[in-house]
Amino acid sequence: MRILILLAIGLLLYIIIGNLLRKSKTPSNTAPGSSERMVRCEHCGLHIIETEALEDNRQFFCSHEHLEAHRQSR
Ligand SMILES: [Zn+2]
Repeated sequence: MRILILLAIGLLLYIIIGNLLRKSKTPSNTAPGSSERMVRCEHCGLHIIETEALEDNRQFFCSHEHLEAHRQSR
């Protein structure tokens, strides 16, 4: 009886691990990371995702403070 239970647990783990491996593999195929482009803050040089960056006159900034600081330095 004990062997049967161990076999059942082993099979269950095999199925769970198999599903987890399949799940972790699928996102890399459907959603490539190329959509999240990185840009550099013109003021401090920090790299940020383009969608989160602030754009001003084709220049990117990590925060509103740095955008203003760069504007005033011109
Ligand atoms: Zn910055």
